[in-house]
Amino acid sequence: MSETETRSKAAPTPKPWIEAIHAYVPGKSKGKDGRPLIKLSANENPLGTSEAALAAKAAAPALYPDPDSTALRTAIGARHGIDPARVVMGTGSDELLNLAAQGYAGLGDEVIYVRYGFSVYDIAARRCGATPVVAPDADYGTDVDALLALVTDRTRVVFVANPNNPTGSYLPKGDIARLHAALPSDVLLVLDQAYGEYVAPEDDDGALALAAAHDNVLVTRTFSKIFGLAGERIGWGTGAPGIVATLNRIRGPFNVSSTGQAMAEAALADADFVEASRVHNRDERDRFVAKLEALGNHGLRPLPSQANFVLTLFEGALSAEAAFEGLADRGYIVRWLPGQGLPQALRITIGKSADMDAIAAALREMAEAAK
Ligand SMILES: *Cc1c(COP(=O)(O)O)cnc(C)c1O
Repeated sequence: MSETETRSKAAPTPKPWIEAIHAYVPGKSKGKDGRPLIKLSANENPLGTSEAALAAKAAAPALYPDPDSTALRTAIGARHGIDPARVVMGTGSDELLNLAAQGYAGLGDEVIYVRYGFSVYDIAARRCGATPVVAPDADYGTDVDALLALVTDRTRVVFVANPNNPTGSYLPKGDIARLHAALPSDVLLVLDQAYGEYVAPEDDDGALALAAAHDNVLVTRTFSKIFGLAGERIGWGTGAPGIVATLNRIRGPFNVSSTGQAMAEAALADADFVEASRVHNRDERDRFVAKLEALGNHGLRPLPSQANFVLTLFEGALSAEAAFEGLADRGYIVRWLPGQGLPQALRITIGKSADMDAIAAALREMAEAAK
């Protein structure tokens, strides 16, 4: 048999680093019996989407979109005081995280992120053949020294979500600056601010200023979370011209739809909706955390959060798994994360006021009944 005949019997073989990837597991929206549940598992905005953004949807043309999202980048630039030439759009910020790894790392290179970091970083690193390097956490938070201790000659990219998902933890400006200052200048620091708009303005972590001033910082943001446009898949990033040019070279040419561009521009202009969403989240999160802290004697421990969710540890008789099932029985789907090494925790998105009251009451009832 000729070589081609032998080869024709074999199936295509994926690259080993691709086979090692565990596909992303999205938050569920249905219970075991298929009935819809109130979904507090995907960090969506309980206030929905700005009316102005919904209105813009109807007006968008169905032909090819502007490949450069010019109007949207201009609006983002104006809103944040960034030169629009330094803004790159992605099909969700997920695309930009993947492009950052692909653009700067490959086989033999290392990509660092924290344990209990966003699960896309692992996929992004492996997709391009790089080796993921995981830094230990500090009581579930991001540990700057642990990240720095892992930097080697092979390090190309460091991913930090701030606030982090799924922990909700947040590094203040001084820690982010210290991390950046201690990294070699040829390491790309990706600061993922998917929840940036939820942080109070006075607690800004300085990421956008770092991206404006240095050649090795990429900040990513998204329209999926506070803006309520997750279905449209729109993210953006900003950094030095060289970084933006690299990502533009490898992104999809029409990676943001016309509808998405129009809706995002309208959403950005509706500052009242964003502020109302931030305030609702802050107030409900404070109220919810206080109720969970009152269950500390039953082993419940809500971690401090700057995001629109609270990671709650179950360290007593009531297990996270039992609480997850109990909440599902009561009509709520939250996120249980055994696949991310967190079988002891539930990530609960901050929803409407009445739902948060119902969840807190249900957790109390289950905790008191557990032995
Ligand atoms: C949700 C999320 C994203 C991105 O979402 P997109 O919908 O792809 O923009 C990025 N990073 C973190 C930490 C997230 O939680």
